[in-house]
Amino acid sequence: MTEATRVLVLNAGSSSVKYQLIEMVDGERLAAGLVEKIGEHGGRLVHTPRSGLKRETAQPFPDHSAALKAVAEELAADGLGLDSPELAAIGHRVVHGGKRFTAPTEITDEVLTEIRRLVPVAPLHNPANIIGIEVARALRPDLPQVAVFDTAFHTTIPEYAARYAIDRAVADQHRVRRYGFHGTSHQYVARATAQLLGRDPAELNVIVLHLGNGASASAVAGGVCVDTSMGLTPLEGLVMGTRSGDIDAGVVFHLHRVGGLSIDEIDDLLNRRSGLLGLCGDNDMREIMRRAEAGDEQAELAFKAYVHRLRKYIGGYYAVLGRVDAIAFTAGVGENAAPVRAAAAEGLAELGIAVDPELNSIRSGQARVISPEYARVAVAVVPTDEELEIAQQAYALVHKGW
Ligand code: AMP
Repeated sequence: MTEATRVLVLNAGSSSVKYQLIEMVDGERLAAGLVEKIGEHGGRLVHTPRSGLKRETAQPFPDHSAALKAVAEELAADGLGLDSPELAAIGHRVVHGGKRFTAPTEITDEVLTEIRRLVPVAPLHNPANIIGIEVARALRPDLPQVAVFDTAFHTTIPEYAARYAIDRAVADQHRVRRYGFHGTSHQYVARATAQLLGRDPAELNVIVLHLGNGASASAVAGGVCVDTSMGLTPLEGLVMGTRSGDIDAGVVFHLHRVGGLSIDEIDDLLNRRSGLLGLCGDNDMREIMRRAEAGDEQAELAFKAYVHRLRKYIGGYYAVLGRVDAIAFTAGVGENAAPVRAAAAEGLAELGIAVDPELNSIRSGQARVISPEYARVAVAVVPTDEELEIAQQAYALVHKGW
């Protein structure tokens, strides 16, 4: 009998689906791709096989079902169809797992109902994840499907850090608390950092800085998350590409009462027109650094505001952890923007934090240490791999059942 050792990872967004087919024996990507603009004009599927040329199809995808069927056809064309006996599971990224889902979970009707119950706290994300699950289950009803939650890694955060200081009855009624996001990435990077340093993850205290278009920080003590910067929604915390991050809630009342903005307009402002974009008109760190270098004051201010917030979280999580062994930079900005890493660590030698300019300037896709040998805290660049983490968690779960 053929052994089932492959996992298809699906990440369904509101108008897109990203996918990777991974061979778990060696972690090799057998295929990867992206469907964009589902339900909109300009639908596009880009499929990248393991070998051979990238295939691009421009066609309308009226819904997620049409998109996933097209993905299944692309995979089948490479001899990797969803009916393959080598497929062990489908792993789904699910953004919000609330308090209930603390680990990867095999999807049953009951689990799906629970994920649906969480839609009010994740209205932008969970509906698309649910559609992805439904369509994949319809395509392969017999195959184990596993939900891997962005919030799960953060469910270990102690109650005093997870609760907002508001009336507890109101908070409980509306499930208002800090959940945190990007958990799959934080978990992967914390473990990969221990691996890079040749240390036992259970003995390592790490501050993980996931700096992408969305950005979050987490404090991980011995492999267990004890605090994170995102909250009820992915709006809290660091300055991001288009999100404000931390803000006085009074700003919302002020903009509504005095500024006359509706709640939806404020939501749009804080989520899509703030952060780096709001401060300087650009949300791409490459462009901001280029403009700042050329003397553009707005870009310089945006860079400084971004780094200032980041340093506040590094300092805060230093205090939360008590002892910090490593700081790991990951995602688009964290992996590529050496000036951001240098500025984040500047002047922190008293805390044992330093970045070696030469090591920091090396461009590489590999995990690497960028602090000088003498530094007490290892500063590292650790590329994240959320798809591999989802695949590993899904695979481990279905294997346990065998
Ligand atoms: P992600 O969400 O992880 O894909 O990160 C996307 C962001 O990473 C982009 O918006 C850029 O701001 C940033 N980024 C990507 N490449 C670079 C680079 N070479 N230098 C600086 N920032 C980069």
